[in-house]
Amino acid sequence: MKPTGIVFFPAFDWGISPTHPEREERLLYTRDQLFEEGIMDLPQIVEYQPRMANDRDIARTHFCIPGVADQATDAHRISCGGALTIADAVMNAQIKNGFALVRPPGHHAMRVAHGNRGFCNINNEAIMVDYLRYHYGLKKIAIVDTDVHHGDGTQDIFWHDPDVLFISFHQDGRTLYPGSGFVQEIGGPLAQCSTINIPLPPGTGDQGILYVLDNLVLPILQDFKPDLIVNSAGQDNHYTDPLANMQFTAQGYAELNRRLAPDIAVLEGGYSVETALPYINMGIIMAMAGISYSNLYEPDYKGHRFEKQKAGSSIKMTVERLQNLWQIREALIDDTRKRQKEFYQQQKSIYYDTDGINEQQLETVRMCPDCMGYHTIDSHASLHSGDENHVFCISIPLKACLRCQGDAWNLYEDRKAKDDVYQALYMQDKVQDRFLRYSVRDGQEISFE
Ligand SMILES: [Zn+2]
Ligand SMILES: [Zn+2]
Repeated sequence: MKPTGIVFFPAFDWGISPTHPEREERLLYTRDQLFEEGIMDLPQIVEYQPRMANDRDIARTHFCIPGVADQATDAHRISCGGALTIADAVMNAQIKNGFALVRPPGHHAMRVAHGNRGFCNINNEAIMVDYLRYHYGLKKIAIVDTDVHHGDGTQDIFWHDPDVLFISFHQDGRTLYPGSGFVQEIGGPLAQCSTINIPLPPGTGDQGILYVLDNLVLPILQDFKPDLIVNSAGQDNHYTDPLANMQFTAQGYAELNRRLAPDIAVLEGGYSVETALPYINMGIIMAMAGISYSNLYEPDYKGHRFEKQKAGSSIKMTVERLQNLWQIREALIDDTRKRQKEFYQQQKSIYYDTDGINEQQLETVRMCPDCMGYHTIDSHASLHSGDENHVFCISIPLKACLRCQGDAWNLYEDRKAKDDVYQALYMQDKVQDRFLRYSVRDGQEISFE
């Protein structure tokens, strides 16, 4: 039996502020706990050193404004590189599965990145998914986000992509940041139901979550048949977490991981730094490595508090609604194709809570009959400093047809020739793996490598 791979990266030199809940102790207590329990000495576990994600890895997924270096510090590159290290080890069959215990986190970082949202600048899992598809030719990947907060960044990145199934369950967006992730958010017109959101009422415990897993998430995964399952592993559903209001336990998290059996887990949130996080992380590692976790309990665990909880009727209704949607997904897409014009457009308003940035986007998708179309994003951001960034981004998906590839490049060249309203133009060609930024003011073009 192959071992489970682990990467630790606590990022000593990165933080939002010294007293912020997103701080390096999040991982230090986990590390101590694993050493104390002798987990790291077991033959079932192997530790890897993270590498650094380069500009190309990041530009394959994001439009970083103005450039990659402005959004990704060394800490971000190592955190993301930790996920890539685990991905390589899984693909090269050195390990059966792996857990990147890294920070800064990533799941609130969207396709266009002007700054930090929800503690995230770049999206570790999304970058890893695009990396796996480009370098290893994986066709279909599922991401299951088990953080208490809706993974709105990951959702945004794969919104139009029918080959990446994104499933997020989280505390109801009416009661928690970022205020999204409702049942009707199911993906773009050509990728309906490749996004599945399961909002849960505050106070949901182990029974509720395992009900959702068994009755909705696992059956959908069985239908979708992904080449690989990624878990965005946020531990802030715990009953002691200071940022949210759920009732999960370390046992519940370990059991969830065992049933989901992800190939790769990447750490997201979890802010009960001393009392819960080390136990949850340890439970997940034990589950991934096939080690019994039946005696794993948090120090303050009192079982009677949780024993009576059953999945309530609102959870059952949500599950039923999504089961029904999932059944008619192909009809939904066919119907939309018939009704849409050549281009689909949508307007978006995005707020960067950490950095105080307001962004307005106009997104366009070519409704191509032969592929998922090329995309453009007109993005206008008002920064906290009063500065404005107005940019135009073009994206060619990995499976774009020749016509869409050609038309997207023509559009880029046309825009370059015009004296435009934009400060910069970005080209993200995932087929050729070429990522460019053209500065309108000085006519300089750079390639992210
Ligand atoms: Zn979270
Ligand atoms: Zn096309």
